[in-house]
Amino acid sequence: MNDSPADSNAKNGKNSGHGNLTLWILAGIVLALIVAFIVPDLAAKLAIGGEIFLNLLKMIVVPLVITSVMSGIIGLGDIRKLGKPGAAAIGYYVTTTLMAVIVGIIVVNVIHPGAGMADTDQVKAAMAQGAPEPKDASRPDSVGGLLHGLVMLLFTDNLLKSALDVQLLPLIIFSIIFAAILTMHGSKSEVLVKVIHQVNDALMDFVLLLMKIAPLGIFCLVASRFGEANADGTLMTELKSVGKYMTAVLSGLAIHGFITLPLILWLFTRRNPYRFIVQMSKALLTALSTASSSATLPVTIESAIDEARISPKSVEFVTPLGATINMDGTALYEAVAAIFIAQAFGIQLELTDQIVVAITATLAAIGAAGIPEAGLVTMIIVLKAVDLPIEGIALILSVDWLLDRFRTTINVLGDAIGAAVVEKALPAEINA
Ligand code: ASP
Repeated sequence: MNDSPADSNAKNGKNSGHGNLTLWILAGIVLALIVAFIVPDLAAKLAIGGEIFLNLLKMIVVPLVITSVMSGIIGLGDIRKLGKPGAAAIGYYVTTTLMAVIVGIIVVNVIHPGAGMADTDQVKAAMAQGAPEPKDASRPDSVGGLLHGLVMLLFTDNLLKSALDVQLLPLIIFSIIFAAILTMHGSKSEVLVKVIHQVNDALMDFVLLLMKIAPLGIFCLVASRFGEANADGTLMTELKSVGKYMTAVLSGLAIHGFITLPLILWLFTRRNPYRFIVQMSKALLTALSTASSSATLPVTIESAIDEARISPKSVEFVTPLGATINMDGTALYEAVAAIFIAQAFGIQLELTDQIVVAITATLAAIGAAGIPEAGLVTMIIVLKAVDLPIEGIALILSVDWLLDRFRTTINVLGDAIGAAVVEKALPAEINA
């Protein structure tokens, strides 16, 4: 009974053999970039194709989170078995996010992208522009407010409203409790358990179907976004003006994605990390194209189970939660951006300030939703925690959409590696 349909998929090796898809997606991205730079106005018009693909992905996120988390818990057979893997998951999320932040802080202090910017027109213009976003009362602007908000994010008084707002955390909490109850019912809830597994399996097939149009959808997404950015011809100037800052963020992300996370994967699972990255490539490229870990979640689950062959019980539990709270790339970027802003404004940050940045960036990343540019919003908390001018955000605004794609890719890689690591913490009789 514990053998979920997703399990049998993985065992049968069904769905394997579409490795070419990754190449098609890559080709789509390259072609999109070419089109966007040659005929930007035309490329911008492809937005509708991208939107359709994105909406199709987003459409299944809520039902998939519910059935996959329930399937995972039912697969464990008994909620008490969740203790060890649950602790392992939380430990993994926090440790890797902190490691990402530390890498970011080291890189930004070494590259020093904001050096010599203090009296430049760029900084003066940012100051003159004032704080970029009107204050939204629903957004926390202090660490206390953030912590309160984080705890309350777990609990909802209206499950349907959470589903409408794609608030995944309360849905996950509900699904864990509900599935735990089903495991206690035994044969009494047999039919319901079957239904959950079958719906979950059908949704996974839905993802597979979607992946068939992924190269086209991703082509449209990338072409239209780069086309739009390039339409007024200022993209290159913008990239150059914050080139050093971008170098700092991208180097930090590269160190975390190609060294730190692979090392953790190897240490805990002895898997070849670079092979693992290739196996997860569809999800990583989807993250790069959508800039949303939530929208990528269906693909993350599919690749992790069918390609990387991680136990569905681990994937179904670790990745939905990870897509919402485990954001290594976002945390790293928030730390780099905050310290860059300090450097640009000529503000000296002492070691204690940098430690505050590290802690608040970790919390801000946990609080950020898995949607495009969510990190930019929660960064206000980091800036406020060390009294940096919020106006500084204007310095990094123009390229945020681009960096967002890379940090989201690292966020998704972190979730997938988390599932592989936590698999090792599953009770032996279940992991068999
Ligand atoms: N776009 C990121 C994600 O979905 C969040 C962020 O850093 O803005 O993972």
